[in-house]
Amino acid sequence: MNFEDYRGIWVFIEIKDGKVAPVSLELLGAGRELADKRKSQLAGLLIGDGVEEYVQTLYEYGADTVYVYDDPLFNHYRTESFMRAVFDCCEKHKPEVLLYGATANGKDLASAVATDLPTGLTADTTILDIEEDTGLLLASRPAFGGNIMATILCKKYRPQMATVRPKVMKALTPQEGRSGELVRETVDLKEDDIRTKVLEIVRETTKKSSIDEADIIVAGGKGLGSKAGFELIHQFAQVIGAAVGGSRDVVEAGWIPHQNQVGQTGLTVTPKIYFAIGISGAIQHIVGMQNSGLIIAINKDPDAPIFQTCHYGIVGDAHEVVPLLIKAFEKALD
Ligand code: FAD
Repeated sequence: MNFEDYRGIWVFIEIKDGKVAPVSLELLGAGRELADKRKSQLAGLLIGDGVEEYVQTLYEYGADTVYVYDDPLFNHYRTESFMRAVFDCCEKHKPEVLLYGATANGKDLASAVATDLPTGLTADTTILDIEEDTGLLLASRPAFGGNIMATILCKKYRPQMATVRPKVMKALTPQEGRSGELVRETVDLKEDDIRTKVLEIVRETTKKSSIDEADIIVAGGKGLGSKAGFELIHQFAQVIGAAVGGSRDVVEAGWIPHQNQVGQTGLTVTPKIYFAIGISGAIQHIVGMQNSGLIIAINKDPDAPIFQTCHYGIVGDAHEVVPLLIKAFEKALD
C-alpha cells in the first residue's frame, strides 16, 4: 500500500428528515481543521436519491469537493448499496481519512466498509487530530469504562476510518456562497443485486427525552440523597424552564428514566447552561456534557472532580443552595 496515493479528508454525509444531519456538519468542521493541517482537501461523500440539492450546504460548511451518488437505489439507507458506493469511491479516489457520524446508520456503514476495505476503524471517537507530516490520524476515545482516554492509530493501512460521536465536534459558521467541486459518481449495481428491501418505515412513537434539545439542563446526582430529595431538581428545572438530566447512578437507582441520563452510556448534550448538582464529575459523565456553553456545579465536596470542568462552582449542600436559587429565580422571573 503506497501511502502517497492517499490524500484528503472525507466525511460521509447523512441526510435525515430532509436535512443534512447535524453530525455531518460537525464532522465537516472537524475535517476542515484536519485538512488544513495536512494542506489537503476536505470532501463530503453524499449518497441518496435526489440529494444534489444538499451539495451547496456542504460547500458552505467547509467541503472543497462533494462526491455524489444520486440514484433511486439509494432511496433508503441499506448496508449493501451504501457500502458498495463507499467502497468504490474509496478505491477510485483514495482518501487518507474517512469520518462517519456515530449514528445508527453511520456505525453500521463504517463497520461494513471496514470489513471490505483492508483497513481498520476507530469507533465512537471524541477527539480527533492528525500528524501534519505523516498524516497519521490520532483518534481518541474513552476506554476501560472511561477511566482513560485511548488514542488509536491505524499505522499500516489507508484510509484511516473513525466514527465520531454526535455533538462533540463543532460545525463551522457557514460561509454563504462558498463553492466547490461536484463529482458525480455511479455504481454498477441493480436493485435485484440488493438482498434487503425496505417494505415499510415505522416511526418511533414513544416520547423522546427532551434533554438533547434543551437550552438549559438541570442535572442531579447521587448527592441528592434519595428519589424524594431529587424532587428539588424537578422543582428548580420547572422554575427556570429547564429539562431534567442526571448521572447514571440516579438512573440505576430508579430516580429518573434512562432517556434522561447524560454521559458515556447516556446522551451527549450541549445546552447553553448545564447545572450539575450533587454530581461528582466522573469521566463517564463529563464526556456527555463537557461541551455545554456554561457549566455550573453545586457540590458539598470542594475537591469533587466536577469543579475541574465547571465554569462556576458553588461549594455547599444542594438542599440548602438549590432552594435559595429557586427563590431567587422565582423573584427574578416573576
Ligand atoms: P457519586 O459519584 O456518588 O457523586 C455524588 C456527589 O454528590 C459527590 O461528589 C458528593 O460530594 C456530592 N454530594 C453528596 N451529598 C451532597 C449534598 N447534600 N449536596 C451537594 N453535593 C453532595 N455515569 C454517568 O453519569 N453517565 C454515564 O453515561 C456513565 N456511563 C458509565 C459507563 C461505564 C462503563 C462505567 C464504568 C461507569 C459509567 N458511569 C456513568 C458511572 C460513573 O462512573 C459514576 O459512577 C457516576 O457518574 C457517579 O454518579 P454521581 O455523580 O451521581 O454519584
